[in-house]
Amino acid sequence: MAYQKKIPHGIMFHHFYNEAHPSGQGAISADDLDNLLRYVGLERILPPFEWLKRLKENKLKNGDVCLTFDDALLCQTEIALPVLEKHGFKAFWFIYSGVFEGKQENLELYRFFRVKYFDNIDDFYQIFFKKVSEAGIAADTDPEFEKRMLESFPFYSINDIRFRFLRDKALGRINYEKIMDAMLKDCGLDKKAMSKRLWMSDNDLKYLSGSGHVIGLHSYSHPTALADLSFEEQFSEYKKNYSHIKRVTGQNPVVAAHQVSSYNDDTLKILEKLGIVCCFRSNMFPKKEGGALNASALEMAREDHANVMRMMKDR
Ligand SMILES: [Zn+2]
Repeated sequence: MAYQKKIPHGIMFHHFYNEAHPSGQGAISADDLDNLLRYVGLERILPPFEWLKRLKENKLKNGDVCLTFDDALLCQTEIALPVLEKHGFKAFWFIYSGVFEGKQENLELYRFFRVKYFDNIDDFYQIFFKKVSEAGIAADTDPEFEKRMLESFPFYSINDIRFRFLRDKALGRINYEKIMDAMLKDCGLDKKAMSKRLWMSDNDLKYLSGSGHVIGLHSYSHPTALADLSFEEQFSEYKKNYSHIKRVTGQNPVVAAHQVSSYNDDTLKILEKLGIVCCFRSNMFPKKEGGALNASALEMAREDHANVMRMMKDR
């Protein structure tokens, strides 16, 4: 069965692997990407400018898709871009600017550490749990939390849940990062050196923007819960992101992608104020129950590449 002709949506890509970039946790190879594009249907994939033109003219139709790459990951330009170029495809690239200006984004660094330095996730958990108990923090999970997590994510293991409980509830951000940073140090790792192989550079953005791809907003520091920030804080996140992209590419950004779909009315007001005409969410569920999947041009649906991979396998 071919990829279903659903409402117009983006396909959202994150991690890719090859000899130089580690596999694991949803990363796909260049061949996987090639197969995925063929499965979706090469003729259905719209270039960004055509997507925006149809959106403006209200002419996007069911079955239209576009390609989107989040988080300015170097593996995307090194692995995915040659595949796109082979087919002559252009895409949207949603980047957060902090990492281009010497800031580090721990979520990505920690993911890299987990997939690169541990054969499997349970090896990582074992050392993490040991560190937590050495710090004198009770490492038991809460049955209520466990139950709720299993309902939402039935594929999580007990260790997955225990880890998330410790990270999000028992430790809190500061203690969690302390423990993770200690683990990195134990492995002799330096975050600055790691960053060089994780994220694109300004030159990559210039190249993309100069060759028909479109660079879009994705905030400055990539807060996972953007909607919890005040209007001013959100505005500053996007304004700094906007200025960086404009400075590097010479273009005013007109597209954006929400942070793991965390946004609120303030976010939409800010994006509108910045002249954003199209913004993507990160799933295929309506924001409000029973609401439209593409509620507005600033809330457009995207399908995660991991889900498309699953559909390909199940067909
Ligand atoms: Zn992101």
